[in-house]
Amino acid sequence: QWGQIQQRLLKTVGQNNYTTWIEPLSAGKISEGIATLHVPTNFFGNYVSQNFSDLILHEIKSEGVKVERLNFTLSPQAANAASRPAPRPAAQPVASKSNVLQTAPLEARFSFDNFVVGKPNELAHAAARRVAEGGPVTFNPLFLYGGVGLGKTHLMHAIAQELKIRKPEMNVLYLSAEQFMYRFVQALRDRKMMDFKEIFRSVDVLMVDDVQFIAGKDSTQEEFFHTFNALVDQHKQIIISADRAPGEIKDLEDRVKSRLQCGLVVDLHPTDYELRLGILQTKVEAQMVSYPELEMDDGVLEFLAHRITSNVRVLEGALTRLFAFASLVGRSITMELTQDCLADVLRDSERKISVEEIQRKVSDHYNIRLSDMIGPKRLRSYARPRQVAMYLCKQMTSRSLPEIGRRFGGRDHTTVMHGVRRIEELKQSDDQIAEDLQLLRRALES
Ligand code: ADP
Ligand code: MG
Repeated sequence: QWGQIQQRLLKTVGQNNYTTWIEPLSAGKISEGIATLHVPTNFFGNYVSQNFSDLILHEIKSEGVKVERLNFTLSPQAANAASRPAPRPAAQPVASKSNVLQTAPLEARFSFDNFVVGKPNELAHAAARRVAEGGPVTFNPLFLYGGVGLGKTHLMHAIAQELKIRKPEMNVLYLSAEQFMYRFVQALRDRKMMDFKEIFRSVDVLMVDDVQFIAGKDSTQEEFFHTFNALVDQHKQIIISADRAPGEIKDLEDRVKSRLQCGLVVDLHPTDYELRLGILQTKVEAQMVSYPELEMDDGVLEFLAHRITSNVRVLEGALTRLFAFASLVGRSITMELTQDCLADVLRDSERKISVEEIQRKVSDHYNIRLSDMIGPKRLRSYARPRQVAMYLCKQMTSRSLPEIGRRFGGRDHTTVMHGVRRIEELKQSDDQIAEDLQLLRRALES
């Protein structure tokens, strides 16, 4: 009888849903109008009950069975498996399905030892360290965000590697959001959704890098959301990275956003001079191993830290090129050689940010018209963005106050000064303004 009901459900829910959610259900007893269905996991039960219980009930009733409610319970096998204290009952099947899910390779050089800590990344680093201890889950998820090349991937790899050493029995899975989607799609296509779910739900630590990638990809988001919930319910650690804060990711469902926000959200700030210098010094030591004969003038590193501000990857690339070049031509690394060899990189990072660019970005950000920002209106909804833009112009361009005033509809330099001061104050007291500034700065620098 249940078999026939299942067959009719197949027609209504479609093959994929059927294979994933209906086929694994088995019928238990019916008493007092309550039909029991056995499910492989609690999560599974929740999902089916939320999404398919109406349909299932309807089909059972149309068999002429008197049923008012469904009750989902763990199947006897699953219940046994769950209560067994053995180390991870899923270990066997997971291993044999390794072709379905291979862990992305970890970069050995992305270790905590090689990560230089400075003011802009100290919080993120501390949080990563804590998670890497593998103790009881304290914040879930850990959400790391920041601009390109600021060390998100580096920190995630470091966590994974540290956990592998400290807790070798833990099942740690690191992958990019893109790989997550790819595997999800593949599982759908190969009708292996059960395997997919089983694998993702049997990890102890799940790390998903660059999660902004799944924005706008609805079914991947959906699956990600369920995976996420299932793991959180089991108190498994989740670590996520993105290029911006959860609330700032466009085309991400609200429920996913709020889930991402419910743990610890920390950002990697753009590097400052000291951090860049620190990173360069560390990387030079590594380079010196490959080029022991090379000599480097004082001041070269300071010069690079000062001039190449975009991201750490560019900084690293510059250094690698410098050493290779110096070694090829058999000269020591002088200031002159540096400027020759890195002329293009230095020119790029010199890119000047214009007043217009700032005005445009700021008006976009606050959703007002450019003309209103520059125009005479004194409404607060225009005045505040205007002051933010003035502040950024003062900070990020070499324009003087009178020049800035002129470009804001011919305003007086005292108006500009007042605006800049106001934002400086607000930056301390108003979190929203502080965050706006950070986002805008990042957008302008990228
Ligand atoms: P993201 O994932 O944030 O875009 P990555 O983690 O890929 O950035 O970092 C880019 C490069 O910069 C990597 O080679 C990484 O090792 C290096 N890097 C970034 N931050 C640091 C740091 N604080 N110390 C040492 N290397 C760093
Ligand atoms: Mg990355």
